[in-house]
Amino acid sequence: MKKIVLPLSLLCVLILIFVFAQKNKQVKETVPPFETFDLNIGESFKTGKGTKITLVSVQEPAGKVWSEISRAEVTVSVDGEEISLVAGMYRLPQTIGSVQVDCPVTGGLRDTSHIDHWALEKDARIRAWPKEGPWIAEESFGYPLKQRWFASHTAFSNEPVAGRPNGKLYYHAGMDFGGCEALTEVVAATDAIVVSAGEKILPGHEPITGSPVKPRYDVLYLLDSRGWYYRYSHFHSFDPGIQAGSKVKIGQRLGLVGKEGGSGGWTHLHFEIKSRQPSGRWGTEDSYAFLWQGYRKLYGPEILAVARPGHMIFEGESVTHDGSRSWSKAGDITKFEWRFSDGTTASGPSPEKTYPSPGSYRETLIVTDSNGISDVNFVRVKVFSKGGVAEDSAPPRVHATYHPTLKIKAGEPVTFKCRAFGTTHGEETWDFGDGSPTVTTKSDGNAEQLNPDGYAVVEHTYEKPGEYFVHVFRKDERGRHAEDRLFVRVDG
Ligand SMILES: [Zn+2]
Repeated sequence: MKKIVLPLSLLCVLILIFVFAQKNKQVKETVPPFETFDLNIGESFKTGKGTKITLVSVQEPAGKVWSEISRAEVTVSVDGEEISLVAGMYRLPQTIGSVQVDCPVTGGLRDTSHIDHWALEKDARIRAWPKEGPWIAEESFGYPLKQRWFASHTAFSNEPVAGRPNGKLYYHAGMDFGGCEALTEVVAATDAIVVSAGEKILPGHEPITGSPVKPRYDVLYLLDSRGWYYRYSHFHSFDPGIQAGSKVKIGQRLGLVGKEGGSGGWTHLHFEIKSRQPSGRWGTEDSYAFLWQGYRKLYGPEILAVARPGHMIFEGESVTHDGSRSWSKAGDITKFEWRFSDGTTASGPSPEKTYPSPGSYRETLIVTDSNGISDVNFVRVKVFSKGGVAEDSAPPRVHATYHPTLKIKAGEPVTFKCRAFGTTHGEETWDFGDGSPTVTTKSDGNAEQLNPDGYAVVEHTYEKPGEYFVHVFRKDERGRHAEDRLFVRVDG
């Protein structure tokens, strides 16, 4: 009997060691699984596997508000077969022939941008992956917030954010994730070493060395095994122990999201990767695909609604909404339901909608797949007053957040925060979507960006499990509407 028991217990120990080792297996990717190449129109690149990719054409129509490029599109030929790719703007790599390809940026974005984020010196940048295979090594890339996908406002790669007095534009590079000030946890997206925390910097990474690190009191820079520098900005606070030289693991808490530094006053994490680009200079590495993959791996959603990016137009103009990039594990979205802020509805992936009055609106998309599972996303439409592009034609806005966004229990309080922008007139009205009476708050209207009490705070408790649509709105002195919406799922 004893002869059997000993080997059995030994076996158990070995199994435990094996399981533990698997769980703690490090994924140290040093070379990412894609090739990056910058091309002029007519120029070709041959991938390591011999696929010939040619840049055929670039389209960069100028928008009406700031002559902004909100949809730069390229046509590339892959071994003779053509495909159109929109640069940045919530786009995932597309499969064609023996590869997956995307286009992070085009020359027109660089030429009209107030900063050269990308280090692109040709007409467009293309990335190519093998047809089968991940966009970044599995397990090596997570999601930098403990928060639902699209839980709050975002400004992702290449979204036009603001006009600049010199006629240039501020296009966002990297990813802005709206969060709940001092409550949403920021975690490491990768295993990394902290090379800069606040003003402190690890020797060898100072700007003088040619690194892309620009220390600031609210910023962390992390360096991963791929040699990529990650900028995490606008922290409310860093966690104790997070300092220059700290080694962090994927998913490890770094601190709490805030609106410090040059945030513009809205609480968000600015997350941006800088890598060596084909020009030889440090440029922004588009991370939408990595974040999408990382989020799916961590949270396993069955379905994700995508109605972003946002739109900006003048009053009286219309927008073609786009929910076609929503994704379902089941493979097909069978229903697209749009609920507009004026009370009307539409169906189908891409309805057109006219906006007669200036304001900022947050429209609702509900997608349902063939398994009957649904998800919700909101998209912002900024409608400028006619008569110029001056700042006073920009509509007021509201930014709303909540915490927690995951695993909310009925009967437990949820914290909601909101801040108005572009007006100090009036107050916010909250409808929590559960039939309870509305609540009013008065945020400071972003009068002082770094005001610690800039956001209005309100708690709300949902008594029953369910899915709730939260609406918060305010009007400025000219009667222009500003609103935000949140989707809250409450478990039993
Ligand atoms: Zn940002």
